[in-house]
Amino acid sequence: MRIVPNHANPSRRAIARGAALLALALPASAVAAPPAGGGDSGDGRESADSPADIAALIIGLQAGRTAEPPRPVNPVAAPVDYGTAINTFGGGGMRTHEGQDMFAPEGTPVVSPTATEVLETGTDGGRGNWAALWDAEAGHTYVYMHMSAPAGVEAGEKLEPGQEVGPLGCTGSCDGAHLHFEIREGKSPYAKPIDPLPELQRWQPAK
Ligand SMILES: [Zn+2]
Repeated sequence: MRIVPNHANPSRRAIARGAALLALALPASAVAAPPAGGGDSGDGRESADSPADIAALIIGLQAGRTAEPPRPVNPVAAPVDYGTAINTFGGGGMRTHEGQDMFAPEGTPVVSPTATEVLETGTDGGRGNWAALWDAEAGHTYVYMHMSAPAGVEAGEKLEPGQEVGPLGCTGSCDGAHLHFEIREGKSPYAKPIDPLPELQRWQPAK
């Protein structure tokens, strides 16, 4: 005797589809209330009600919650030596030092850490070849000093993260090739300086 497919037993999928159609046919008030304890839906729709779907949803939510914006890049595009206490913000109490010295080989590109706009560039006996970049999102001005050549960017120019400002050097009042890097709170190279080292250590180092 032949085995006849049992048409009296519809598949689970067919039941779910039937329930979904039924839900569509019902007034919204009849299907809107979620089951106690939450959940995506209690009306038998096929989406997001299998354990795998729910797991994917949870993983997706966690990924969304932990995703962070890209880290700013370190302004010196090479491994950096932060020197000694005298090279830190405050200069170890021995002098007024409004930034952090960052030692790397002469000619190493110094770059914008974030999306910035060039505020001002110049050359003088103290700062050497210098530049100031405005980060509107952070509300900070980044100041670069002692570059070996005048800044390769101009006031008003918009820079992307990692875009070169100029070559690291030792012009102006300087002893040993380094970038003197400042962070100032506000839109001016003369606004109140803060210690840049915590930020520098958070930012993406050069490979
Ligand atoms: Zn310095």
